[in-house]
Amino acid sequence: MFDKIVIANRGEIALRILRACRELGVKVVAVHSEADRDLKHVRLADESVCIGPAASVDSYLNIPAIISAAEVTDAEAIHPGYGFLSENADFSEKVKQSGFVFIGPNAETIRMMGDKISAKNAMLAAGIPCVPGNNDPLSDDNKKNLKLAQEIGYPVIIKAAGGGGGRGMRTVHTEAALLNAIAMTKAEAGTAFGNPTVYMEKFLEDPRHIEFQVMADSHGNAIHLGERDCSMQRRHQKVVEEAPAPGITEEQRKFIGERCAKACIDIGYLGAGTFEFLYEKGEFYFIEMNTRVQVEHPVTEMVTGFDIVKEQLRIAAGERLSITQNQVKIQGHAIECRLNAEDPKTFMPCPGTIDQFHMPGGPGIRCETHIYNGYKVPPYYDSMIGKLIAHGEDRKSAIARMNTALSEIIIDGIKTNIPLQHDIMNDGAFAAGGQNIHYLEKKLGIY
Ligand code: ADP
Repeated sequence: MFDKIVIANRGEIALRILRACRELGVKVVAVHSEADRDLKHVRLADESVCIGPAASVDSYLNIPAIISAAEVTDAEAIHPGYGFLSENADFSEKVKQSGFVFIGPNAETIRMMGDKISAKNAMLAAGIPCVPGNNDPLSDDNKKNLKLAQEIGYPVIIKAAGGGGGRGMRTVHTEAALLNAIAMTKAEAGTAFGNPTVYMEKFLEDPRHIEFQVMADSHGNAIHLGERDCSMQRRHQKVVEEAPAPGITEEQRKFIGERCAKACIDIGYLGAGTFEFLYEKGEFYFIEMNTRVQVEHPVTEMVTGFDIVKEQLRIAAGERLSITQNQVKIQGHAIECRLNAEDPKTFMPCPGTIDQFHMPGGPGIRCETHIYNGYKVPPYYDSMIGKLIAHGEDRKSAIARMNTALSEIIIDGIKTNIPLQHDIMNDGAFAAGGQNIHYLEKKLGIY
């Protein structure tokens, strides 16, 4: 195991990684921006290094500053968390070239999965079902594109090969709108992702979002840890996640999960990863792979009793997977509510000082957050300030526990989405389970 690592992230995930390090006896170097001196994990770390001003481009995205922090503190490895540089192939490469271990897959894998077209092709080769589409970059040949859309059948979706975070896609319902949509998505993709390549696939009208968690080691072993349902979304951003996905049978889990694990072996995958699928009319369609730990990893941890972050560290240190597929057992049900510093009605971010924070508790409740009394939520970063996870013997008891926890939690001084989360937990259709990705927006009256 490593003696010391750098956590190249902030907020709740930095704290989560620090806790895993503590359990494994690994020392922690926290790197932070000038605006983040008061972050909880910075206070708890063995050492901390300020890597630049508040703006992420100058700090959490500043590759040379992060690598020099590892150098001056004599650390051995760097954990990128999620977001920021976690899926940046150049970062993975530079970390390695500088003599450190990147806690995640190698640069080639990140590059292949970061391009949604090459990812789709790799998955098709591995026998994973994908959304019907062209699976090649769209050319400038208008005639060809019109014909292609006709073959796929409207509605279609134009997606940026380098897109992420729910951005860089446009749905097209009619032939008249196609060419303009391709041109606009290309232009936006060029500006936003530095890559104007787009592709076309069938737009699934009422799918659910179901994803499979995998872990692979450097000895040719891979397992899946079952699936999560992340269909409660607003603007393609997940709001509530749960495991297992309501209504998915053991046979479906085994069929898709084993294919995902096999695909990891085929592509030489290393560490934790997620295969994201759209699920419609009983069929799974791969959309993308995330090559990092995800925000919603705790729901999988709660139902499997398996620590994904500690395993990431072990795998990066060259150890074998600590369990086999047969040892993976799904027990009960877990739900996660993301807690955002935002207005629950307008969704405008709401940074500011937390006057009072009371953490909920009780059986099956897990609260992952870096906030504390007097903590000032800075305006520079994502508005997520934590996650509340409830585990119960079944879905009904997980919802009941979440409801209790949401009534107990107090975050005063800033606005949060707790009222919205409460509303979702008390929604009859949510209680029934298996709603599609449009449900929440329809409920909010914005779809
Ligand atoms: P990102 O990398 O930006 O998260 P994804 O490919 O994972 O992009 O898609 C994000 C979301 O966009 C999905 O969860 C789904 O809501 C919607 N989406 C993507 N592709 C399709 C599709 N073919 N049909 C319908 N919805 C889609």
